[in-house]
Parts: sequence; structure tokens; C-alpha cells
Amino acid sequence: MKIKIKDLGEFQLKPGSTLKDLIPEIKKISKELPVGFKYNDTYIDWHYTFNENISDNLELEPIFPSDKEALVFLRHTASHVLAQAVKELFPEAKLGIGPPTEEGFYYDIYYERPFNEEDLKKIEKKVKEIIKKNLSLERREISKEEAKALFKNLEEDFKLELIDEMPDSKVSIYSQGNFVDLCKGPHLLSTGEVKAIKLLSVAGAYWRGDEKNPMLWRIYGTAFFSKEELKAYLDRLEEIKKRDHRKLGKELELFTIEEDIGPGLVIWLPKGAILRSIIENFWKEVHLQRGYQLVYTPHIALRDLWKVSGHLDFYAENMFPPMELENRVYQLKPMNCPFHIYVYNQKRRSYREFPIRYCELGTVYRFERSGVLHGLLRVRGFTQDDAHIFCREDQLEEELIKVLDLVIYFLKVFGFSEYKIFLSTRPEKFVGSPEIWDKAENALKKALEDKGLEYEIDPGEGVFYGPKIDLKIKDVLGRFWQCSTIQVDFNIPERFDIVYIGEDNRFYRPIMIHRALLGSLERFLGVLIENYAGAFPFWIAPVQIKVLTITDRNINYGENVVKILKKEGFRVEADFRNEKLNYKIRMAQKEKVPYMIILGDKEESDQVISVRTRKGEIINNLKLEDFISKIKIENQPEYLLNELS
Ligand SMILES: [Zn+2]
Ligand SMILES: [Zn+2]
Repeated sequence: MKIKIKDLGEFQLKPGSTLKDLIPEIKKISKELPVGFKYNDTYIDWHYTFNENISDNLELEPIFPSDKEALVFLRHTASHVLAQAVKELFPEAKLGIGPPTEEGFYYDIYYERPFNEEDLKKIEKKVKEIIKKNLSLERREISKEEAKALFKNLEEDFKLELIDEMPDSKVSIYSQGNFVDLCKGPHLLSTGEVKAIKLLSVAGAYWRGDEKNPMLWRIYGTAFFSKEELKAYLDRLEEIKKRDHRKLGKELELFTIEEDIGPGLVIWLPKGAILRSIIENFWKEVHLQRGYQLVYTPHIALRDLWKVSGHLDFYAENMFPPMELENRVYQLKPMNCPFHIYVYNQKRRSYREFPIRYCELGTVYRFERSGVLHGLLRVRGFTQDDAHIFCREDQLEEELIKVLDLVIYFLKVFGFSEYKIFLSTRPEKFVGSPEIWDKAENALKKALEDKGLEYEIDPGEGVFYGPKIDLKIKDVLGRFWQCSTIQVDFNIPERFDIVYIGEDNRFYRPIMIHRALLGSLERFLGVLIENYAGAFPFWIAPVQIKVLTITDRNINYGENVVKILKKEGFRVEADFRNEKLNYKIRMAQKEKVPYMIILGDKEESDQVISVRTRKGEIINNLKLEDFISKIKIENQPEYLLNELS
């Protein structure tokens, strides 16, 4: 029987034998041995047995260790090694499932108590022993009955449940040493090929994610083909941990989310509030300059409004439940759009007025399951930097270009210059005519092309009411975050029956654009904290300068310096405590304050200052006014923009 392997050639294989038998021959042709193969999106490993009845044009695609997909083989194997180690140390433990993941692998295991740090260390040690033994893996296909007998004997109840649900009459099992697991594969040849492995953490996980089921312990780990890759991954994990906005939010006293107040509800502490208000003020200023009009709208509205807007039809499960007052029913707002329609409708509108742009930092409330809430990134109450633009069809493209301009400007101002852009087109269910959809999609495309922006098309992923552009920003660690969105809407103007009077004195329906540049202030600030690891650019830093005295003799001089800086509008704090200078520097460093001004007898007698930057650079004998002119430049929102270009 013939087996074709892409780029490697044709091979003869005896029916019923495994691909392993081809290894000596392949080794002669290829310097590197594939970890396994792929056929029609299915992974096939060396343990696979081929029967006579394979088709002639079957061609396997080899996967080499450097291919990303090779990790699936590796991590599948790693999870079996983990399971074997646990069973050797804790024979009463029962195995659930153990798949590979994007980041590594895990295994869900039932045990009478949670596994602790100590256990994890022991298990990892055992894992390494099993790897060292270099046990070869074997794959067998057996009947369901046989499999049931086997796992019943092993008292693996969860596996029995899984076998019952398998559709085929045969199942595959993999074994290594005296360990056996129910598994589809794919796997490496032997445990010794798992070159670099690390167990990371344990978390509770209900069997099949259902809280009515028993709680299992999910042991997470990761594995790579080389120690270098593993180290790079662990370093990155460490970096991500250091930048975690929840941790930094606490340390820098920016925000808090309190169980007693409610999950997903954010309290902005004074330092976070300053940061937020600087961004808000800047946002408002720029919007006013660019022809937007600022509005404010309430947080709740009568339920009927949400009926007209369609939210109760399409969005009800994301809304907080109704509340009744004086026999009328209200609901918290999940979006600001309907309110802006009422602003529009205050007057009869003429074609000459367009475009009309209303913007609002509008706080909305959406129900998110408590399981998915995450710091500032997934919350239940948040403030969108929202705007709605009403325009004529012939203005759509130009308006979209302006919005894109504004998005890019904002993101760059905050230091983000790389994005991934997605254009989502007409879904199966939609409102409006296909012609107008085509027009809007083309307008979005043209706007992106006009700005020279690369984008991907997400076919059919538009919202039912219109196509949209989503922008994901790239942070310093190369992670992408969804923030900005621009949506064209043909639906809401229809639902609220809003019109304008055209040149010919007839009524026309305006087009509406919804857009948020930052997304929400909560989410954007979360991303900002992680991107800068809390060391914010000067113009938004909650405390910009800290003045430190070396001795009590310098307090008067210090007070004077603080006074001058405050008068110039800088956010300054003084640390005149009778503490060692090094300690004061350490504290300011921890608070990630951009500049420290250090004042001792020498500075005082020469009437100068010494400056220490957040990065540890020291500038001595600086005149205060020279320092002020330098930081005045840095205090401008566009400072970063100039740095980037
Ligand atoms: Zn497996
Ligand atoms: Zn909207």
C-alpha cells in the first residue's frame, strides 16, 4: 500500500502496520523528522495504523517541530505525562480530560482535596522522571465494550461517561509504560521528546463546566520543544503578571472593585479619577474642535423606549431587569443611541445642517455573567466614549474618513501606533436593502483605503443593522485589544422614524453612524495601565513630580519649589518626611512618578534643583525654570504623537 507524504515522496507500507515503520526510510531523505502529519484538518501521528482501503490520492502533510501545529502533538503528550505522574503519586485520583490549549495544556483531575503548591512541585518532579524514562507511546483502536471494561477496571468513572457518548463503535487509547488513556491523539513518539515542561497552576473546574457536577482540579502547564522557548514564555508570563491592571490598580491606588458594592462595578480612587478626568477633558476638547456637540443623557429610561429602539428584541439578555415606579416600568440603559435620537428630533432638520455629530461620555450598564467579569476589561457598568453622527448618504464616506482620522489620532496620542482592523459585512439576517448595505460597505472600504489602512474582511459578521469597522490595538507585549468601533446604522433611524428635509423639500431618512474611539474608559484605562505597566506618559500621570528633601533644613526651599510647580499647573506631591533619601526615592519609584526633584543644602545654596527620572537618570544643577520649560513640552497631549513620528 502506498503512502504519499508531501515534499518527502511516496512510501510503501504494509497494511496494518503503523507509520512508525517508515521512520528509517524517512530519516534517509529528511534531515529532520516530522513530529507528525496532517490530512484534511486531522492530525495523524506516527502511531497511526493504515488499512488497505485508503484512497490513492491520500497525501499526508508533514508537520515539523518548528511548525506552530507541532505544539499540539507535544502538549497532548505532555498532558498524558502529567496524568501519569498524578496517578503514580495519587492513585485514587480520577482523570477527566486533558487537552492542549493555545498557551499550553491542562488536565482536569478529581481528588478528595485541592492540589496545593507542594503537590504541584512533587508532580512536576515526577513528570520529569517520566520524561527521562523516555517511555514510548502506543496507540490502539479497541471496541467500546473493550474500552469500557478497561476503564471500569481502572475505576476511571469520568472516562466511562466519555466512552458512552462517543459516536463510533471503536475508540482509540494511548499508553506509555503502565499508563493508559482514552484519547484521539495526536502524540509524539515517546515521553522523552517533551523537552521543556512547566506546571503552572491549579484551579477548580466543574466536570464539563456544569456546577451540578463534581468539582475537579484543573492543573495547568505548558510545554515547548526547547528550554529557550519555555524560558521566553515564562518571562513573558512574569511580565504579564507584573503589568496586570488589577494588581497595579491597587498598588497605584487607581481603582477598586468591591464585593460589597457589586461585581463588575468600578470605584475610581482619587489618583485614577485624575487620570480619567485628564483623558475625558482632552476627549471633550478634541471633539468640540472637530465639530461634535456635547450632550448628557440619563442612565435609565422607560422600558418603552427600549421597545422602540429594538433593544428588547435583540439585546434583552444583556440588560438589567426592569424596575417599576408609579406604575411605569424603567430599565437601565445598555446604550446611548436612543437618547441622541431625541436630541436630533428637537427640531425639524434640513439637509443643510448635516453632518450633525453628538458626543457623550455615556455610562451604560450591561449584564455580564459574574464568571466572565475581569478587572476593568469586562465590567457591568462602564462609560463609552460614544458619538452618533447623522448624515446624508452622499456624506457617508467623508464622515467615515473623518472618524477614522480621529480614531488613529486618539490611539497615537496614547502611544498606540499598530492595529488590526476588521471590516464586518452583511450578515444573513439584516435590515435595509442590499443596495444600501453595498453602499455602506463600499464607503467603509473606501475610507480605510483612503487612509492607507490595511484591513481584513469578516464576512457576514456585521450587526443586523449595518456594517462596521473594529479596531484592535497592539500593546508593548504584542497583545491585541479590541477598543474602537465604527458602525453604520440603517435601522434605528427607521425605527424612530427620523427624517430631514431635502433640497427638493421632500422628507429623507438620515444615515446614522455609531462610534466609540477608546471603546469604554474602563477598558481603555485597563489596557493603558497594562501597556505602560503603570508608568504613564507625563501628561496623564496622576502625580507628575515628587519633591523630596534631604534634610529638614531644606523644607522651606522645598515648599517654595512645590508652590511654583503647582502654580504652573503641574500635579506635584511633596515628601518632606524625616526619612532617608533612598527610602523616599524608593517610594516615589514604586508610585511610578515620572520626575523626582531632590533638594539638599547644596541645591538650596546654589538655588538649583537635582532631578531624578523614573528610569533612574540624574540631572544635577538644573535651574527650576529650565526644568519647567522642558516639562511644559512633555505636558502636551500630542507629545507622544511627535515622539512616534
Ligand atoms: Zn492525548
Ligand atoms: Zn449607538
